[in-house]
Amino acid sequence: MFTISLTCLQCGTTHPMTPTAYICPACEHGTTGMDTGILDVQYDYSALQDALLRGQEINSSRSDVFRYLPLLPVEKPANVPHAGGTPLLSAPRLASRLGLKALYIKDETRNPTRCLKDRATVIAMTMALENGVKDFYCASAGNAAISLASFCGHQGLECHVFVPREASQTRLNWLRRFGADIRVSTGNYDQAFDEAEMAGAKHGWYSRNCAYNPFLVEGKKTVAFEIGEQLGWHVPDLVVSPVGDGCTLGAIGKGFRELSLMGLTERLPRLLGVQAEAIQPLVRRYHGQSTTSDEGTTDAASMAVRRPRNALRLLRELRASEGAMLAVSDQQIASAQKLLAEEAGVIAEFTSSATLAGLIQHAEAESVADKTAILVITGGRLDSDF
Ligand SMILES: *Cc1c(COP(=O)(O)O)cnc(C)c1O
Ligand SMILES: [Zn+2]
Repeated sequence: MFTISLTCLQCGTTHPMTPTAYICPACEHGTTGMDTGILDVQYDYSALQDALLRGQEINSSRSDVFRYLPLLPVEKPANVPHAGGTPLLSAPRLASRLGLKALYIKDETRNPTRCLKDRATVIAMTMALENGVKDFYCASAGNAAISLASFCGHQGLECHVFVPREASQTRLNWLRRFGADIRVSTGNYDQAFDEAEMAGAKHGWYSRNCAYNPFLVEGKKTVAFEIGEQLGWHVPDLVVSPVGDGCTLGAIGKGFRELSLMGLTERLPRLLGVQAEAIQPLVRRYHGQSTTSDEGTTDAASMAVRRPRNALRLLRELRASEGAMLAVSDQQIASAQKLLAEEAGVIAEFTSSATLAGLIQHAEAESVADKTAILVITGGRLDSDF
């Protein structure tokens, strides 16, 4: 394996690479004003580059997440459903509507449970199976829980999920179907997250929380590898993703940075993170504004996170890529959801449609002529008709 260590994103301490590590023991969940001590997996990039020159980097016999095995913290793939390897679709009508040179949709709705979350779940399953784990847990607005419950069903393992009070019936029904042990919180996602971590620690269950278990974002970063490969290692100008805890876009940023560290690409795309107007803590933090609490509500349930747990990771990648954060209203998201279906043929879930709403807003603020943009359509689960 090419992994060398785990570095804390909060205090910078380097820890040995242990497959059972979670957060930094010195920082833990952080005191007031501090972030959780999320660990970041470090690789030997010069050794990877050498291997790459010898044509060993990519496992061309696979088309899922494990295609990029040397850049993952696992020795060999487990026998799990096919996650990743999703198409990159060209959307010429939307491109000309926005005045872009080209627009592509990274269609993550093609994953086994219709969501990008499966990319993290396969890493969790693989590492846990190597360690003989029988019980998994996660906190989730729905998608991560459904992903975990489905994969646990496939393996015949126990799955404990902690969901917010407002979780939709559609999502709860899927969790029931997959036989998960469902714990509905009396509070929001942030409270469900705390409850999950407490129960997980008490019972010794394996964590599938991307802002706790450091290995899971490694699965999510393969989105960037695929986009790079699908574009012949030509880097797009803009990559747009919805942002909740910050794991997804932070992971994608890391993936693009790794491609350039290994000399496969020449620059980084600008990351554009989108949040809902009603709940936009990372937009404010990015702009250095105080973290007044978000009292509003949004239909963008999959990114309705008031206390984002992987902020440092996302902020680091935004800085590296000269990226930006922006907020859009639910009304803007709703019309973007329709446009995605009508002009790109993609059935995106509400949260994922924020990418198009954000890109439209960005294109109104600055010229995007000559630019190539990617919308990461993170999921396709519909909680209601549109
Ligand atoms: C989880 C999720 C997000 C947000 O990802 P974070 O890692 O929390 O920032 C966006 N879209 C969908 C569909 C999701 O399920
Ligand atoms: Zn630390």
